[in-house]
Amino acid sequence: MDSKESEIKFPDQHEWGRKELDIAEVEMPGLMGIRKEYGPKKVLKGAKISGSLHMTIQTAVLIETLHELGAEVRWCSCNIYSTQDHAAAAIAHANTATVFAWKGETLEEYWDCTNKMLTWPGCDGPDVLVDDGGDATLLIHEGVKAERHFAKTGELPDPNSTENLEFKQVLRVIKEGLQAGHTEKWTKMANHLIGVSEETTTGVHRLNQMSAKGELLLRAINVNDSVTKQKFDNIYGCRHSLPDGIMRATDVMIAGKKCVILGYGDVGKGCAAAMKAQGARVVVTEIDPICALQALMEGFEVKRLESVVDTGDIFITTTGNKGIIMAHHMAQMKNNAIVGNIGHFDNEIDMAGLEGYPGIKDIEIKPQVNRYEFPDGHGIIVLAKGRLLNLGCATGHPSFVMSCSFANQALAQIDLWTNRETGKYEKGKVYILPKELDEKVAALHLPALGAELTELSKEQADYIDVPQSGPYKHQAYRY
Ligand code: NAD
Ligand code: SAH
Repeated sequence: MDSKESEIKFPDQHEWGRKELDIAEVEMPGLMGIRKEYGPKKVLKGAKISGSLHMTIQTAVLIETLHELGAEVRWCSCNIYSTQDHAAAAIAHANTATVFAWKGETLEEYWDCTNKMLTWPGCDGPDVLVDDGGDATLLIHEGVKAERHFAKTGELPDPNSTENLEFKQVLRVIKEGLQAGHTEKWTKMANHLIGVSEETTTGVHRLNQMSAKGELLLRAINVNDSVTKQKFDNIYGCRHSLPDGIMRATDVMIAGKKCVILGYGDVGKGCAAAMKAQGARVVVTEIDPICALQALMEGFEVKRLESVVDTGDIFITTTGNKGIIMAHHMAQMKNNAIVGNIGHFDNEIDMAGLEGYPGIKDIEIKPQVNRYEFPDGHGIIVLAKGRLLNLGCATGHPSFVMSCSFANQALAQIDLWTNRETGKYEKGKVYILPKELDEKVAALHLPALGAELTELSKEQADYIDVPQSGPYKHQAYRY
């Protein structure tokens, strides 16, 4: 592996990155436990792992865990604003992975980095993939589609055939490859790739959709739905990193403000709890009566956006859906209302509509904080240009909770690699890790918090009908 191949912004920040990595390792007992158990056996020896996941300090500990288990690693970020440059520098300097990531990539740079992360010199591609949101998986699948079409018709993909700025870049990258004569790059890569482990709700939706249509070319593990990911990262991670992002970006006092949380799933629950704890008056919007009722039981009002659009002070989207706050909503908001997204991508908030609003002025207050001023002089403050504000304006979730998520990632990578020839996983299907592993991940985190776990007696185990050594819940239990 050639460390000089890495493309990062501030290589001189490697010492700072390493010092923070040293601290993070102490806060990540899940990953360190996995290093201890699987490191000496080098269970990932020979595996080439590509990853598209926020290049933060926490991800750096995941990368170095995969490296310590024997893998060779190439990495990029899954978001143009989320890289912590000192984390990228520490990894590139230690040569524990080849990294293509910096904070503030253009869309063109982002998709070029994704392409480079997937392209392994001298072979067809990675053995296993880590993805977050599904962008790397998307590029491979679109590449295969375009190569099939090219083989049949000789036609290249046309970036101008779409208005979507991201998809334009996807088509550009694939077109340039074909023009350079790489007519089977993505097909060979998809054939070679054992599988993908997907980090987040949105990426899992995409995988399930592809699987249902029979279009998924890979084996896939849904890491998001491990309880120790979904019910910790999505809830408690956001409970920490939402206020962190708002405060670092604006320094606004949250207490007393009317805060509108759009969506009350796992992320929304963490966000609403954080704003309540700060003393905000919290209003929730929901489409699902169950989640709406849950919000009411926690003491939140449930309203439509239209009812609170002109009285809210802070608006946060958490839905994993699109078109949640539109330009016409933003035009009605109070002067200097804060608008941010902690769900996915940049389409929960209608950024395209806002930027194209007649007479709008975009004033950068500082990187990732913009005031959009309407022609009448009033304005709103938009965080991270509508992309994840916790990773754009702050540093994402803290290490301890990411240790839970990434312990699941590491276990998924190990299982995909070690079962590459056993037939345990089938192409085109999406799996979740067994409950035993979920409980194991949780157990790895208890000693650090001084927990004393009660032991289940044989009689009690029989009485509640679970094995004495776990799993302690039946499959349908919801936590
Ligand atoms: P979820 O499915 O549990 O929650 C989403 C909620 O939004 C659901 O309850 C749904 O009913 C609601 N919703 C959908 N459309 C709506 C609409 N038009 N108006 C109001 N509510 C609506 O998903 P989740 O696990 O909470 O994840 C949400 C998003 O956050 C996903 O995109 C996920 O990938 C992302 N995520 C981000 C972070 C982060 O660090 N920023 C962390 C975890 C997950
Ligand atoms: N790539 C898409 C999808 C959302 S990413 C996008 O950027 O819009 C959401 C994921 O970020 C969560 O599932 C969470 O696991 C991850 N995340 C949050 N904080 C993080 C951190 N500090 N380091 C790495 N990943 C983090």
